[in-house]
Amino acid sequence: MTNHCCEAMDSHVNVRCREHNDIYACPDALIGFSTKFQEYGLIVHDGGTSSIIIEFCPWCGRRLPDSQRDTWYAELRRRGIDAWEDEVPAEFQDARWLDSLPHRHGTGGTPGSS
Ligand SMILES: [Zn+2]
Ligand SMILES: [Zn+2]
Repeated sequence: MTNHCCEAMDSHVNVRCREHNDIYACPDALIGFSTKFQEYGLIVHDGGTSSIIIEFCPWCGRRLPDSQRDTWYAELRRRGIDAWEDEVPAEFQDARWLDSLPHRHGTGGTPGSS
């Protein structure tokens, strides 16, 4: 489970549509959240799967977590895995790989922890 910055973001990220399995095909889906990269994007409904990365929440204005995309590739490389050629481990398909990073604890606060 990922805690998003606010309820509005939470509901937009978790849009469930009966008609479209693919969020990129669904006009109701505005925000795509990549768990493995911790990236939020505005979905561009051009028939493809493009989205525009956003740094701030459009609803509450809070700064969103930094993208972990570079770290993701770096961590795979550190393990000798080629993201394009090799099979990517299951924990790298979602946010679990972040828990395995040793130097991540004690940095900054989590928003909304009260
Ligand atoms: Zn928000
Ligand atoms: Zn839909």
